[in-house]
Amino acid sequence: MIKPLPARRPFIIPVFLSNAGCPHQCAFCNQTSITGVKKDTISPEKLCLLINEFLQYKEKNRWPVQVAFYGGNFLGLKKDYIRLLLDETTKFVTNKRVDSIRFSTRPDTIGVKQLDTIKDYPVSTIEIGVQSMDDRVLDMAQRGHTALDTAKATAMLRERNYEVSMQMMVGLPGDDETKSMFTAQRIASLSPDFIRIYPTVVLAGSRLAVWYQKGEYTPLSLSRCVALVKNLYLFFKSKKIPVIRMGLQASEDLAKDTTILAGPYHPAFGHMVYSKIFLDMATSIMEAEKGSCDKITIKVHPRSISKMRGLKNKNLEILKRNFQIKSLKIIPDLTLAEDKLTVTS
Ligand code: SF4
Repeated sequence: MIKPLPARRPFIIPVFLSNAGCPHQCAFCNQTSITGVKKDTISPEKLCLLINEFLQYKEKNRWPVQVAFYGGNFLGLKKDYIRLLLDETTKFVTNKRVDSIRFSTRPDTIGVKQLDTIKDYPVSTIEIGVQSMDDRVLDMAQRGHTALDTAKATAMLRERNYEVSMQMMVGLPGDDETKSMFTAQRIASLSPDFIRIYPTVVLAGSRLAVWYQKGEYTPLSLSRCVALVKNLYLFFKSKKIPVIRMGLQASEDLAKDTTILAGPYHPAFGHMVYSKIFLDMATSIMEAEKGSCDKITIKVHPRSISKMRGLKNKNLEILKRNFQIKSLKIIPDLTLAEDKLTVTS
């Protein structure tokens, strides 16, 4: 009998190249604020040290191991520097300590020349900074590329058999729920392997911060953003496209009041989205049953208990209040799928 492969839990070694290779600064961006990395490049020697350091913390069941270049526009870097970074990283792949390489890049820097530069390296995954598929929104965000660039870039990556990830943003200037869903639909039509969804926040030092201070930009509220991202998540789920991140990666730098001036930032943003999904599921079952609500038991997979409870048990408070429940129990049930629940009274 063939033993099933263990669940994929990648071990990512992130290398931040703050704004390196960017043709200009997009209106919402200030990578130094997000990553805390002030220098925009890294020497091969430092890269080697960094990868070795991360590998010390790898648990046995983590797979695949990928070195990921984030925070800038990888294919916008000078060709020789791209080669230096990839040469150094490839040594780890050759000696089987790392499985492959991934990086994020702008759609308009994905071209034949750039892809020829990387073709002999063990790059498996390319993350495209899509942000929006609405050209007006892209223009207002000062991205400097169009939705067509993303479609063309995706086709080129597919031809070369790369795994393709797409990053989209919500709450950009000129964007709204309808346009975000349009972006999601266009993204889904390009069949990416996975998605990341980032809320727009007002970062100090960005052009968006100036607009915000002048009253020309209002960010989404946290609750509206959670509701929007929930709908996008459910849409991608219906298309069988995994969403691997919702919300910015929490960091000490982001936690400072001086880094994010406004916007829907929460260190547990993704958890809030999942909690809202569980709250909605429980609510619709209870509304449909219309039975006695004195004593309610909700069963969920053990890994979904905190999602059902919500942050600080907020979901339980809401359900108790809305349905006048006197006793509400959440019970783990291994027979249930992680995205399912049952309600009994
Ligand atoms: S959003 Fe991407 S391309 Fe734009 S400035 Fe930031 S890192 Fe560079």
